[in-house]
Amino acid sequence: MARPRSLAVVGGGTAGYFAALAVKRRFPSMTVTLVESRRIPVIGVGEATTTLMPPFLHAQLGLDIIALWRQVRPTFKLGVRFEWGLPASEYNFAFPFDATNVIDAASYDRDLHAQSLVSLLMHERRSPVLRGPDGEIVSLLPSYKFAYHLDNRPFVDFLASASRQAGILHEEMTIDEVALRRDGRGIDALRGGGRELRNDFYVDASGFAALLVGKTLGAPFRSYAPSLFCDRAVVATVPQGEVIDPYTTAQTMDAGWCWRIPVTGADHRGYVHSSAFLDEASAIAEMRAANPSMGDPWVVKFRSGRHEEFWRHNVAAVGNAYGFVEPLESTALHMVIVEIAYLLAGLELPPDAAAQEQFQKYANDAVGGHWDYLRWFLALHYKYNRRRDTPFWRAARSDVDITGLDDIIARYRREGAGPWMDGRQPMHGDPAFGFSGIATMLLGQGVSADLPPRPSMSQARWSRRASEHRRVAAWALPQREALEVLRSNPQLLSDFASSSRSWCTGPRERIAIAGPGSAPGKIIAD
Ligand code: FAD
Repeated sequence: MARPRSLAVVGGGTAGYFAALAVKRRFPSMTVTLVESRRIPVIGVGEATTTLMPPFLHAQLGLDIIALWRQVRPTFKLGVRFEWGLPASEYNFAFPFDATNVIDAASYDRDLHAQSLVSLLMHERRSPVLRGPDGEIVSLLPSYKFAYHLDNRPFVDFLASASRQAGILHEEMTIDEVALRRDGRGIDALRGGGRELRNDFYVDASGFAALLVGKTLGAPFRSYAPSLFCDRAVVATVPQGEVIDPYTTAQTMDAGWCWRIPVTGADHRGYVHSSAFLDEASAIAEMRAANPSMGDPWVVKFRSGRHEEFWRHNVAAVGNAYGFVEPLESTALHMVIVEIAYLLAGLELPPDAAAQEQFQKYANDAVGGHWDYLRWFLALHYKYNRRRDTPFWRAARSDVDITGLDDIIARYRREGAGPWMDGRQPMHGDPAFGFSGIATMLLGQGVSADLPPRPSMSQARWSRRASEHRRVAAWALPQREALEVLRSNPQLLSDFASSSRSWCTGPRERIAIAGPGSAPGKIIAD
């Protein structure tokens, strides 16, 4: 296949706009058209992100941080706070985004709060913006990794306006027929409302409909249901208190868990549960009991799993069209960014049929394997959560399939947490959820091992480090105040987004595709 001169993205949700913007920026001469249907609304959830998001938006897509902050009004997400693991109702632990010393914390402290500066900020409900003793503002944004909470609707509007400015064509059309090429190898045209759109390449971002990759090309769907039992979410908005939490909360519920995503102006909550264990009315009642002031709830249905192929012929699938797991670690938009890295690498290939075929196979293994890793990682959250004793959690503890992590768990049981976990990337080398994520979930949930955790530093050094972090955290501003400071000092935002000393522009934030011949799916941090 010659390099495509025209590409159509089917879908105007976050995944579709991300893909269209990324392709247009990398290949400015390509005609990129985004097709969406007013009759089929975007999913409307998808708001907690990971540390891949700020560099993707500002460094890769070049979207202006000040415009984003003005129009979308994001809040900071420093990590996930888990009300999870042990039965005590006040027990919680953080999975912070900065480099942590979770094993030292587990060795020396009774909880994991002091595992890193960011973890302490989360515990104190403060943000990475400090006011020093003389009133001076110090921004830690360039130095400590964070993600955004993004209100979905204004965010999609923001992306739509950026795509118009980038010269991406926009078609409002409900596709009711997809024509295959004469040889059956790929898609020829999209049809709807008496119109036809013909392009060289197609990106399926049609959400759960999976219009191209699933319905048309028939790529089989591989279900994750044996590991992830949940298939519904009751979603609602609740009024926000004085403090805007700088993290996403995952709170254990009777038949699943509830997220709390503080966006500007309200907290968004969603009870992810299993319909096999809880009917809709009971789920809403439990959610209302936990959030008496919540607004009208709505229910989102989903299925966990992925298609066998990410790329088939002249189609690549991104977002919910390719795969989905519940947002326990906010991995959906994270994976859209990963998928787009593979998409761009594939589109860049020279017109050599053998090389392209080899790459497609490699990309299918790599993207699929990466998703499978996330499946196991999320399953780990379910398998060891002892917070509640209900039929759902008893079934989770006994039946959730975590086969993909068997070796790691066996080693942990034998040796305990120790240096063998430090700085390692398991399997597909997820940039955010490597061994530190696994260690946090095992230690945070108090999973037993034959040996105690082995710290990397002496107790004296640990105490000095923790008190230094506490001293810094004491200067940190609560998020509401920090957001005001940043809105009136936009230069601090620009510094974060564009300074060469900021992690946002650093090479480690680029997802590099190793390519055929290397370990499939290895995402290398160069
Ligand atoms: P959608 O938003 O569903 O967009 C699909 C698009 O395809 C629409 O524009 C539609 O018009 C178009 N379309 C479909 N069929 C046709 C057709 N026949 N003709 C023309 N157009 C068509 N992700 C996170 O990263 N963090 C989270 O916190 C998070 N929370 C979530 C909570 C829940 C309960 C669920 C279900 C998902 C969550 N996600 C989260 C996932 C996230 O919502 C999605 O991954 C993200 O919004 C991308 O969606 P999408 O663009 O793939 O699909």
